Order: sequence, then C-alpha cells, then structure tokens
Amino acid sequence: MDYLPLFLRLEGSSALIVGGGTVAARKADWLLKAGARLSVVAPALGTELGARAARAELVHHAARFSPQHLEGCAIAVAASDEPAVNAAVSAAARARRIPVNVVDSAELSTFIFPAIIDRSPIVVAVSSAGHAPVLARRVRELIEALLPARLGALARFLGARRAAVRRAFRASARRAFWERIISGPAAGEVLAGQEPAAERSFAAELHRARRPASGVGAGEVYLIGAGPGDPDLLTLRALQLLQQADVILYDRLVPEAILERARRDAERIFVGKESGGHPGRQGEIEELLVELARAGKRVARLKGGDPFVFGRGGEEVEALTRHGIPWRVVPGITAALGAAAGSGIPLTHRDHAHSVTLVSGHAATDNSLDWRALARCKQTVVFYMGVAQLPHIVARLRAAGAPADRPAALIERASLPEQRVLRSSLMEIASVALRERVAAPALLIVGAVTALGVSKRAIDAPAIAAVAGAGA
Ligand code: SAH
Repeated sequence: MDYLPLFLRLEGSSALIVGGGTVAARKADWLLKAGARLSVVAPALGTELGARAARAELVHHAARFSPQHLEGCAIAVAASDEPAVNAAVSAAARARRIPVNVVDSAELSTFIFPAIIDRSPIVVAVSSAGHAPVLARRVRELIEALLPARLGALARFLGARRAAVRRAFRASARRAFWERIISGPAAGEVLAGQEPAAERSFAAELHRARRPASGVGAGEVYLIGAGPGDPDLLTLRALQLLQQADVILYDRLVPEAILERARRDAERIFVGKESGGHPGRQGEIEELLVELARAGKRVARLKGGDPFVFGRGGEEVEALTRHGIPWRVVPGITAALGAAAGSGIPLTHRDHAHSVTLVSGHAATDNSLDWRALARCKQTVVFYMGVAQLPHIVARLRAAGAPADRPAALIERASLPEQRVLRSSLMEIASVALRERVAAPALLIVGAVTALGVSKRAIDAPAIAAVAGAGA
C-alpha cells in the first residue's frame, strides 16, 4: 500500500490553498465541505473562488505565496499553474510538517486527494496512488452506482438509535440486531424516504429482539460457491454473506484475494482437503460445521466453483439437515463455465455440440462411467480432477470409439491471471500436459468446440479484458 487511507477532521481548522483557478476551486469545494476555515493565496481569483470570496466563505490574500501564509495551517494545497510556486509551497509546508498536496505531483505531495463518493456520513475514498487516476474515477463511478442515494440518511437514522440499542443488548447480540435492521424493512423504508414507517418498523424489531427465544441464537451455515478463482466472479449474495459470516471454512481452491473480501474479523479455518478429499476428513468438516452452528455462529463454507458440482455440498447439506441446522446454498460459477469464458470455448454450439457433460476424473478409474456415451460426437465432455488420470481418460475414450484427432483442450487455473489454455487433439493432449507441466487445478475439455477460433486477447488477458469492458 503506497498511501494509508485516513479520514481527517478539519472542522474549524485553517487550510491554505495557493492558486485561484478551477483546479484550486475543486479542492476548495472539498475543504469547505469538511468545515475548514479556508485561505486562498493568489494574485487574482477565478470566477468560482471569486464568488466564494464575495460570500465570505473564504479569505482571499491577493499576493504571491510566501511561507508565512502557512502560519497556523493544518493542511495546505498547491494548485497554482506555476511549478516553481508549487515547489516552494511544498518545501515550506514540509519544513513545518504541514501535510501538503501539490496538484499533479505525487513527489511533491505528502498526501493525495482520493476520488470521493460522498453520502455523508458514509464516505468512500478511492485512490490508485497516482498510478491511474482515470481508473480510480471509474471505480468511483461503479461504487456510486451501487450505493443508494439516501445511504447517508440511513446512516444517520441508525446513528441516532445507537445509544438505545447499546442499552438494550449485550455487545455480542448487537451486531446481529443491526444486521437484521440493515437487511430488514426499516432500512428499506429509510432508503425510500419513508422515515415514519421506518421508525415503526425499527421499534417493532427492537421489541421482538428483546424477547429472544430460549438459549443461544441459532447459528446457520451458508454453503457458498467462490467461483473459479477471480474474485470478480463472486456473486453479490456470496459477498453479502461473506460480510456477515462469523467463521469461514475454506478450501485449497479458494484464493487469498477472495478471502480478503470477507468480514475482517471473521475467524478463518482452512479445511484444505485435496481435490475429492478422503472420507475421514470430510466427516470432520461436517462435524465442525454442526458444532460451530450449534454455538450460534453464522458459518460460511466457502468452496471453489459451485458447492453442488463436485464440491461435496450434497453430503454437507445432508449432515446439516440431519442435525437440524439451517443452511443456504449460494451458487458459484463452476470451473467448466469459468474455463469456457476464460478460453472463449463455448460449451455448446448449434453446429458442434448439443449437450455438455461434467465428469469426475476420479471416476475414470472405476467402472461407473458410460464411455461409449462420452465418446460420441456432437457433444462436449468436461473432466474435472483429471490431470493425473489424463492418459487413462484418453485411452478409455479412444477404446470407446472417439477418433484420435478429436479436438481437446486443457485449461489450467481458469479465470486467474496465470490461466493457460492448451489446445490439441485427444491423441496428443496427454503428452502436451506432460511437456507443459500442467498441474491442478485444470480441466480437460473434449469436443469440436475446443477447436473453434477465438481472439488471443480473450485467452491471454481475462483481467485486462474485464477492465477494458468496464472502461468502454
Ligand atoms: N466445486 C468445484 C469443483 C471442485 S473439484 C467447481 O464447481 O468448479 C476440483 C477440480 O475442479 C479441479 O481438480 C479442477 O479440475 C477443477 N477446477 C477448479 N477450479 C479450477 C480452475 N480455476 N481452473 C481449472 N480447473 C479448475
């Protein structure tokens, strides 16, 4: 992190801007919003700052900058169009340990202005540490779009009731209460501008919560699909529940970047079973889920891809039901779909594939699969957990009648920056995997669709393509 984001209290403090143009005017807007007492040093003011000076919202010193203008200042901004003046402001401010921002010069600044989303008292600050201000602004626009316009009103509504809630509940129960309020009718009513209705809903919820059912609040388990690895492929519901969960049990396939999106103070438990896992370990995980939920925790069981596609979600749900623990399943983008999108390989196609089958590579060694059916043409077959079994899978498909030149592809670490797509034929694919040292997690896709032409950019740069899409 190049800069530590902090929120500075400026109410009543002196702030100095050097420069009188429109750039200075934008900085003045923010400093005045934060309640600073603003002085502007400039030989002359532009229209906007001039109007503010006329309304006595700031004090104008019609002069060239000199260090004594910094006397008593809590913060300084150099926004003149003369580099030498800006450099002098920076040097003088730094000598006095006054935080200084020089417009368009990170080197001369000790702080930078972020892109700001203002729903006061909720404020979001976005920065690219000067690397890509336009990208930071794009991020701000995306967040702007996500945040309801009356979010600030909601924050004030909740803030006004904090003391009452503190009196009513112990610390351990407060968070759950606030979460019920935030996702319940009262919050919706504030956001819709119906405060009297919100007031009634809040009172009703407070009344209900004061007479809790006996014992510890019941916990619950969320089986959450984390998708193929790219955090942007999480669903909104997955994000919401990750923000609420007290404990997170996660697999080997869930990358750190996804865990970072969870609640900061949630307990994390790595239950890193190898793909497929062995039954003993699975039993322990189920016991742990039950135990944590019984202790009143909201437990997120975070799995790669989708919980119900080779994710043992079925067994976990059975165990939870057996023990009377409430559960919810949040679907995730399964690896086959992530790989298809990341490689540009469509899984079905009017001309080439009328069905798609997801197969466990582990099953390749027992006799449970119908190889003749998997070997037929005009379909796509996706093998999960198949890297170790590749030669075996190929041999079985060939023996069942699949031609040697049937197109096949391996997609390693789909959706992640290191994603690799290796296209070949059924006959060659195992040696390609060996030569290229393909490692788990990877998928084998067999079928004519894997030979379809796609743009290189879509294969090599999923992350860049995503940003380009956002910037379009
Ligand atoms: N529940 C998961 C699958 C778990 S089984 C899902 O729905 O995707 C684990 C197998 O999934 C791996 O061996 C690999 O074959 C596949 N897999 C998971 N993530 C992958 C990724 N990012 N790229 C390629 N294959 C992946």
